[in-house]
Amino acid sequence: MPEHRSVPEVDRVAAARRAVERRRARAALKRDLTTRVVTPQRVLARATDDPESVDGSMRITDFLLALPAIGEGKRDRILTDLQISPVKRLGGLGVRQRAVLKAWLDGRFPPLEPRGGRSNLLVLAGPTAVGKGTVAGYIREHNPEIHLSVSATTRAPRPGEIDGVHYYFVNDAEFDRLIADGELLEHAVVHNKSRYGTPRAPIDRALAEGRTVLLEIDLQGARQVRRSEPDATLIFLLPPSWDELVHRLVGRGTEDAEERARRLRTAKVELAAQNEFDHLIVNEDVAAAAAEVVGLSTGSAR
Ligand code: 5GP
Repeated sequence: MPEHRSVPEVDRVAAARRAVERRRARAALKRDLTTRVVTPQRVLARATDDPESVDGSMRITDFLLALPAIGEGKRDRILTDLQISPVKRLGGLGVRQRAVLKAWLDGRFPPLEPRGGRSNLLVLAGPTAVGKGTVAGYIREHNPEIHLSVSATTRAPRPGEIDGVHYYFVNDAEFDRLIADGELLEHAVVHNKSRYGTPRAPIDRALAEGRTVLLEIDLQGARQVRRSEPDATLIFLLPPSWDELVHRLVGRGTEDAEERARRLRTAKVELAAQNEFDHLIVNEDVAAAAAEVVGLSTGSAR
């Protein structure tokens, strides 16, 4: 019957569409691996859990090539060393192959080791457009018990920003004075433009009162805090995917194309520094990410 004959055609179209979708998903996964938005160990674990998934259907050759700083020559040597056939897909590895691959990945991309101790000083950093400000703003609104540090900056206020609430807006001379007088815990030039710094006194006061303090600052600032306050808890916010980060940056519409390209280059450099942090949190949903941040404070139960 005609209806029956038309079914395979519909199937073919659907199958072609699925194939395109899968190719797209695999390309997105490669970008996530290259930019370190996802760890290779996580992809391997997902591939093992579900060999039919995008992760599971990825060729081992594509997987290795997507990892930071691995070219074709190195990839082929690794496969020979690990005795894994280049035709294998991640989901089709044997138990022994999975184990040697996992051990190799752990050696080359050491997993984060969560630190045992807790600190009242939380530092939230992460790449541009990941939503640090939104997560911090959510915490300001929902967790008044947490002291959100107000930074000093030389950039001009944006519409709706209030001096003393979102930032202390200062000029260059005043910023110089803050540095000279040792009033800043850390400071940095961000995006090659304006200067930002964390006033020390309000933090010391809040910590002395036993409160949790949250700093939302850039990577350079986080590194300075790590040096001056080694016990601080450093949190790195990750986007759910590289494509989502690009989407958020474009969607925000506050930067022109050249500036966006520059920020995305910086984002790659920043993502590569995630292992300097104590905790990684994926900002898929703002309320959930905020709850995870708050959950890391000393005041909250484990
Ligand atoms: P925005 O100008 O969009 O408010 O912030 C730009 C960047 O500056 C963000 O990445 C933010 O984390 C960072 N930032 C804000 N305050 C500070 C600060 O006190 N110190 C440092 N190092 N970075 C800051």
